[in-house]
Amino acid sequence: MEDKRVTRRDFLLRVGALGLVGLGSSALLSACGGQQQQQAAQPETAPADADTAATASAEFSCTDVSGLTAEEIQMRESLQYTDHSPYPDKTCANCQLFIPAESPNQCGACQLIKGPIHPDGYCTSWVQKVS
Ligand code: SF4
Repeated sequence: MEDKRVTRRDFLLRVGALGLVGLGSSALLSACGGQQQQQAAQPETAPADADTAATASAEFSCTDVSGLTAEEIQMRESLQYTDHSPYPDKTCANCQLFIPAESPNQCGACQLIKGPIHPDGYCTSWVQKVS
């Protein structure tokens, strides 16, 4: 039969090990939290960058449909897709079906329409983005 008594030394070693794990977890959590705080602080400096990004995004085109089939092009046309929304408050960027690009200066995609989609664009299937 195995002796399951815990010596004082074993106990202190285990508690010490748990303490190190706890410290490691705290450091990790604090590092994650610190990053979140850093991300949360970014919007304070964003307006100038946002203006630049908005200007830059308006300077590129997402109308190249050369890789699409005739049906996909017809779908784009029937939903009246345009790179520049006629409604300031309704753009692809705030549409539920928009798939943003990694950079604000690139065409994104759409869950409904194939091909490049401009963040400032619009089509008749626009749906308010739900956060
Ligand atoms: S559904 Fe229309 S408005 Fe919405 S992202 Fe696609 S193309 Fe833009």
